[in-house]
Amino acid sequence: MKPFSMEQMYQELGISEQIRRFGEKAEAQLRERFEEIQKTAEYNQLKVIAAMQKCRVSAECFQTGTGYGYNDIGRDTLESVYAHVFHTEAALVRAQITCGTHALAVALAGNLRPGDELLSISGKPYDTLEEVIGIRPSAGSLAEYGVTYRQTDLLEDGNFDYGGIRAAINERTKLVEIQRSKGYQTRPTLSVAKIAEAIAFVKKIRPDILVLVDNCYGEFVERAEPSDFGADMTVGSLIKNPGGGLAPAGGYIVGSKECIDRAAYRLTSPGLGREVGASLGVNRDFFQGLFLAPTVVAGALKGAIFAASLYGRLGFAVVPDAEESRHDIIQAVEFGTPEGLIAFCRGIQAAAPVDSYVAPEPWAMPGYDSDVIMAAGAFIQGSSIELSADGPLKPPYAAYFQGGLTWEHAKLGILRSLQSLADQGIVRMEELCEG
Ligand SMILES: *Cc1c(COP(=O)(O)O)cnc(C)c1O
Repeated sequence: MKPFSMEQMYQELGISEQIRRFGEKAEAQLRERFEEIQKTAEYNQLKVIAAMQKCRVSAECFQTGTGYGYNDIGRDTLESVYAHVFHTEAALVRAQITCGTHALAVALAGNLRPGDELLSISGKPYDTLEEVIGIRPSAGSLAEYGVTYRQTDLLEDGNFDYGGIRAAINERTKLVEIQRSKGYQTRPTLSVAKIAEAIAFVKKIRPDILVLVDNCYGEFVERAEPSDFGADMTVGSLIKNPGGGLAPAGGYIVGSKECIDRAAYRLTSPGLGREVGASLGVNRDFFQGLFLAPTVVAGALKGAIFAASLYGRLGFAVVPDAEESRHDIIQAVEFGTPEGLIAFCRGIQAAAPVDSYVAPEPWAMPGYDSDVIMAAGAFIQGSSIELSADGPLKPPYAAYFQGGLTWEHAKLGILRSLQSLADQGIVRMEELCEG
């Protein structure tokens, strides 16, 4: 049989010739941007390999510990690789850290004591942290343990409110939290340079204040990480960027030895800390996922920019736009109607390698005040380094999407989403031709 042409391959996956061409045109204009992303991936790939070499990663590291997990060399070596990559004294990288929220909760609870105050300087933290902190009353929250909370919002232009931060810091301020990614907000994501400036500002006021950065979705997007600029703890999820799509679960905390030890005493138990916690077979996936992470993140970034370009051309509001600098892998597209948001998510789902035949439906979810639609055809449940999208069914009907283990898949997913909008008559074919 004569092999299919590229056009036929896309047709087989449900992409019309018109949409494919529209995508090609957009992609051609992104070449320079993509090259820059490849350079960052190259830099970060070297950073990860150098760390693995320095830490003498060996085949033995892929064996697993059981029981208490004493002397689990794979786990211990992995943690020292993370410490090298992030340039910190220590790291806690475990499957026993169940997700990003858990990693943040362990880092906070391990390092705060009754009477201390936690100050968020990037505005309202990620939704799930509201219950960790006790902003929304919750059993076991920091508030229940007598840790108070204060927050300074970012300024209108997305910058830190330095005057407000100075005024909010008092003798009880123990820990300052900075969230790098916008999460489900419309503010811009903070660059590492801006975070570095804020850390320096806080440390100048009181050097003993601990600074924690929620680094979710930011890892390997830039050449430096917040940990390079004095963050005492930098925290994230392994089913996002640093797991490279292979980590089956887990979270990480990197930082000063003191902070990491205190977090470990909280995660396992006082006295035991990092010494226990069997790796239970995940070591190789953690190593190999970290090894792949820089290029996986590059693919996801290209996908985000491609989507911004495509949907931007069609007149939809996109945050960030195709030209802006990027500091995380999240892309928001506002559809303005429930039909648009639903069609988009269904297109993303239809392009997935897993569960492509199911059509996502909007549904009520705990913690949300409106129905939510989610598209995820992932190998790892809930993994958002894999191509995934979701959005609440309320104005402005924005889809937040991220990931893509390969650029090629991200591209297909975005084209398929556009096809889905065109099939519903939400995007008109003439607009595609003009674009
Ligand atoms: C995803 C995320 C979290 C929480 O991570 P989970 O793994 O979903 O618990 C926290 N903060 C930010 C900014 C995130 O993007």
